[in-house]
Order: sequence, then C-alpha cells, then structure tokens
Amino acid sequence: MRNEFPISVKQKLAERVAYRCSFPDCDQHTIGPGVENDMATMNLEEAAHIYAASPGGPRYNPELSDDACRSIENGIWLCRKHARVIDVGHKVYAAQTLKTWKKSAELRARYVLLGGDTDQAALPSVLLRLGHRLVCWVRWLAIEHLQWTFEVVAFVEGSIQDLQMYCSSFSQMPSYNRFVIIESQGDGRCLEGIHLKVEQGQRVLLECFVGPKAPRSIHQDMADFALDSDFDLETYQGDLHVVTGTEAAIQAITLSLSLQYGDLKEFPDEGSEFRWILAHYQHDPLLNKMIKMEVARLLTVGANLANRPGLDFVNRVIDVQVLGVRQLPICSPAIVHLELEFGDGEQWKGIIQIPV
Ligand SMILES: [Zn+2]
Repeated sequence: MRNEFPISVKQKLAERVAYRCSFPDCDQHTIGPGVENDMATMNLEEAAHIYAASPGGPRYNPELSDDACRSIENGIWLCRKHARVIDVGHKVYAAQTLKTWKKSAELRARYVLLGGDTDQAALPSVLLRLGHRLVCWVRWLAIEHLQWTFEVVAFVEGSIQDLQMYCSSFSQMPSYNRFVIIESQGDGRCLEGIHLKVEQGQRVLLECFVGPKAPRSIHQDMADFALDSDFDLETYQGDLHVVTGTEAAIQAITLSLSLQYGDLKEFPDEGSEFRWILAHYQHDPLLNKMIKMEVARLLTVGANLANRPGLDFVNRVIDVQVLGVRQLPICSPAIVHLELEFGDGEQWKGIIQIPV
C-alpha cells in the first residue's frame, strides 16, 4: 500500500514554500489559472516523498512508520519535472540533501514574504570537500545537468587562497585529487572542471563540472580471504577462510579506512585520512561528518591503491558515528557505527573497528 499524503499535508507543504518548487534555483510556480472556466486552476506540482511511500521506491526506509511516511516531515514540494528528477535519479539525491533543499525553500519563501530579495535569502549550508585538505560550508545554488553551483560561506580546512590555488592548478592535478564530496549526500563525483568566481558583492561562487556517477559493482559477488583483527590471513582447520558478499564488503571498507597515508612507503600519496581526521577532530562536533566525507571519498575516487579497488560497491554513506572517541588515544581500535547503501540499493548498518 502506498502511503499517500493527506490533502491537509499537501496543502501545508505547498503553502510553506508559496507553491514554488523547492529544487535549487528552480523556483517554478506550481499553481495558476486553468482555461476551462472562471473557477478552474491548473496544478503542475507534486508533494514528493523524501523516503518512498512503498517498498522498493526511491530512498525507501523500512524503519519509517506509515504515519511518519505520510507526515509533513517526509514531504517536499516540487514542480512535476523535478519530482521526476529526484525519483528517477534517487541514487543521486539523498534524503538528507532533499531535507536541506526543503529547508532552503521554506527560508527563502519566508524571506520573500517579509519583503526580502530572494538573492539575499539566508539559506542553510552543507559541507563540501574538494581534494585532500579543502573543506568548506557552501550553499547549494543551482544544479544544471552536470554543473553544480555553490556559494562558499566559510572554510573548515584550508582558506580562500587554497581554494583559488586548487582551481588554478586543477588541470595539472593528479586525477585522485579531482573530486567533490557533499556531506549531506554521503557521496561525491569526480570533477572534470572547476571555476571560482568572486562577485562584486564579495559573494564567492564555485562552479563544479562533475562527471556522471561511476557504475557500482555488486557487493553480493565479492569474495576475499578472511583477515583477523590484525589483518593477518585467518585460517580455519589449516585452510584459509573465505568471506563473501556483505562480509567481504565490510572487510574491504575496514581495510580501506585502516590503510593510512604513509603506511605504504612506495605509495606516499595513497591511503585514507581516517587516522588524521580522528586525531584532529576527536573533540570537534564535525568529527562524524568529516569521517562520513572520507568514506564518501573512498567510494568516489577510491584509495588510489594500484592493487586495491575503491569502495565502488557502495552507493552512498547514510550515517557515521564514531563511538568511544573520548578514550582516545587509549581506545584502539576506533569503534565506528556505519550506515550505508550498497550499489544495488540494499542498506546495511553495523559496527566496524578501525585500528588507530
Ligand atoms: Zn522545479
């Protein structure tokens, strides 16, 4: 059974964004007069579900009750075109991102209602990471096919000079450093181009020309030799033990995060930043988001290891919670609660342990 929204919920969703589409930079009016008679109206809108109304639908969340699925919290008001875009492209548009857009659209509607100019509306920002050590808060301004435009609001790692340097040296950069990660999405893309524009009013606009999402491999087909907690081969009655499917996938994620920069002397540019982030952000509220972006990097560009594939069997990281971080550095391994979506849409959550 589909959990359709009650009419009252649809109406409130629409009113809260002044009947305009919530997709970044669309702002399409969704209601107007019809031509049949003086009473007729024409609607080109959709109250779209953030988590799908029925199993198998886009972003379906089995833990959401029917009531929660039909509630206003689970809706976003869109024009018909963009309602289709987010559902056909559901592997691209994460629930958390849609929630950010909804909040943006509501803030914008309120700002305009009170007499403000839309361009000046205070929109909520998302965390974005470029390359290895550039992380900033941005506002998502527009999406036009493979061109994403953001306004840079503040820096977490790096500075405006570092961003300028990143953009100007982009074409000489190794491919593993050309990527953009969006924290709310738990996902990223390889970058084909990037352009920084500083407007007269000092607004810093970042245009990212992204590649299409690379195809995902099927985690169910994976198989590898089992490793013990020290990453030594595990034997069972003298034979090497083999892990397959989800177990092999989780082992690959653990291994990928454990392999730190500098661990491989012959490949100093390769590995994960997990340990560095843990050391630098262990008392920072951004810790979980920073780790989430690092996992998203590994599924976007991989660990760049010649003999190891990236996490191309993961579609998206849904959530990361580092547990027991207060005991650091005594606490080893680091205990991480991870929630993700595999390439085939299956969701997994559980605990992984990363040696630090
Ligand atoms: Zn739209």
